Amino acid sequence: MISTYAVRSATPYALSIAFPSDNDLLGVALVCTVKDPTLPALRDPATFGVLVRLFPSTGAWLSTGPRPVGEVHVMAGFDNRWSPTADESGPAATGVIRVGDALAHTNPTMTQGISLAPWAARHIADTAHHADRPDEFARSCDRWTRDSPKPWFDLQVTGDRDNEARLSGTSGAVEDERARQRAARFPCALEDPVVMRAWAQVRHMMRTPREAFAAAKVKGRIEKWLARQPEAARPPSGPSRDTWETITAGAR
Ligand SMILES: Cc1cc2nc3c(=O)[nH]c(=O)nc-3n(C[C@H](O)[C@H](O)[C@H](O)COP(=O)(O)OP(=O)(O)OC[C@H]3O[C@@H](n4cnc5c(N)ncnc54)[C@H](O)[C@@H]3O)c2cc1C
Repeated sequence: MISTYAVRSATPYALSIAFPSDNDLLGVALVCTVKDPTLPALRDPATFGVLVRLFPSTGAWLSTGPRPVGEVHVMAGFDNRWSPTADESGPAATGVIRVGDALAHTNPTMTQGISLAPWAARHIADTAHHADRPDEFARSCDRWTRDSPKPWFDLQVTGDRDNEARLSGTSGAVEDERARQRAARFPCALEDPVVMRAWAQVRHMMRTPREAFAAAKVKGRIEKWLARQPEAARPPSGPSRDTWETITAGAR
C-alpha cells in the first residue's frame, strides 16, 4: 500500500511534497502561506535544496542524488473565484453565460478545473435550445451552477482555508474537530475501502462531498480510525522554524 506520507511531510508552517514522475523525473515542492516573510529566499536553488532535504519525505526521495533540471519556480496567485452568471438583481450581462474558469476559477491543487468546465458547457448545450428568454435562462443556469459545480468549488475553498489556517497559525484549525476529520479523509481512505469509495466518488464528481462524507457509515469509519491513531492524520514533520529561518537568512 502506498502511504500519502511517503511523499508528504508537514511542519506547522510548511508542507513539503515529492512528485515522483515518469522518465526518471522527480518534482519537489514546498508549500507555505503567502504571508511567510521567508518566501523570497526559497527561490535560491541552494537554500531550497537544503530545506527540502530536511523534510523526511522529500529528503528520502532526494537521497539518491538526482540532478536538477530546472530553476526553482514559483506557483502562486491561484485564488478561488466564483463569478455567478446572475445574482438576486438579475443576470450579470445579457446574453452571456459563464462556463469554465470564467464561472469557477479554482486553485488547481485538487485538479478539478478541467472537469468543471465541460460540465457547465454540457448543461448549456442540453438546455439552451429551450430558452426563449435570455434573462430567465441566465437565472436558471445560475441555479444549476449553485447546485451542481458549486459544491466542488466549495470543497477547494474549504481545503485551502484549512491549509492556510494551519500554516499561518491563525486559528486552532488542527484542533478543530471538523478540520481534523477532513484532514483524515485521505489517509483513512488508503486503509479503508468504504472511505476510499466515498473519496473516489467525490473526486470523480459522482456525489457531492456533503453526500459522500456525511453518510453515517463513512463518518463512523473516519471517527474510529482517528480514535485508533490520533497522530495518524499528521504526516511526518520537518525542520524547526528556527532552523528554517537560519537557512533562509543565508539565501543569496
Ligand atoms: C498551473 C495550472 C495547473 C493546472 N492543473 C490542472 C489539473 O491538473 N487538472 C485540472 O482539471 N485543472 C487544472 N488547472 C485548471 C485548468 O487549466 C482550468 O480550469 C481550465 O483550463 C479552464 O478552462 P477554460 O476554457 O475556462 O479557460 P482557459 O483554459 O484559460 O482558456 C481560455 C482561453 O481563452 C483565451 N483568451 C483569453 N482572452 C481572450 C481574448 N480576449 N480573445 C481571445 N481569446 C482569449 C486564452 O488565451 C485561453 O486560451 C490548472 C491550472 C493551472 C494554471
